Amino acid sequence: MTTITLSFDNGPDPDVTPQVLNTLRRHDLRATFFVLGDKLRDRRALAERAHAEGHWIGNHTYNHLVPLGLSAERGIAASEITRTEALIGDLAHERRFFRPFGGGGLLDQRLLSPEALEQLQQGGYTCVLWNTIPEDWAYPEGWVERALRLSFAREHALIVLHDLPTGAMDRLDHFLHAAKDRGAVFRQDFPADCVPMERGRLVGPIEPYLQRAA
Ligand SMILES: [Zn+2]
Repeated sequence: MTTITLSFDNGPDPDVTPQVLNTLRRHDLRATFFVLGDKLRDRRALAERAHAEGHWIGNHTYNHLVPLGLSAERGIAASEITRTEALIGDLAHERRFFRPFGGGGLLDQRLLSPEALEQLQQGGYTCVLWNTIPEDWAYPEGWVERALRLSFAREHALIVLHDLPTGAMDRLDHFLHAAKDRGAVFRQDFPADCVPMERGRLVGPIEPYLQRAA
């Protein structure tokens, strides 16, 4: 049996986030939205709706421009995290979810810098990675088959999708039906091996995701 956890990154988007929320509501499913501070500023109502409907809101940096592991300038990583968390405010989950980003969904040392790690530990954050990347941004139609294949190869898939205007989320309903038809069970909480830090405490290996200063 496969368990699937859904996450939606890089929003909120004025058109796509409501569409995703409507689809999840029809399926009676809860997910996590990892939002960007820069988008949240003017679109907080979308995150408020998601929160009110039982979804979890996580921090996915402010600008999402340079992966924190590559950001050499002092203070940037801390500010990317704390500015966004301030905007999330009382919509934050008590575990304070934070998801870093790299490039193309790769789990590598670009994800975190020592400064980012320190900020996350001091702030009591829970660091949420992933294990399933169907590349919905690159395959707005084909991601569904990829997501099914990748998810069913795992016991517990934590899928990264994007509530962005690529057209991919037009097929979210189709994906959810197909996954249910094949017997998948959905769960909001994350697989333990995708969470190297829980409430500021390291609970798994962090070195693979950490760019030590040269
Ligand atoms: Zn992202």
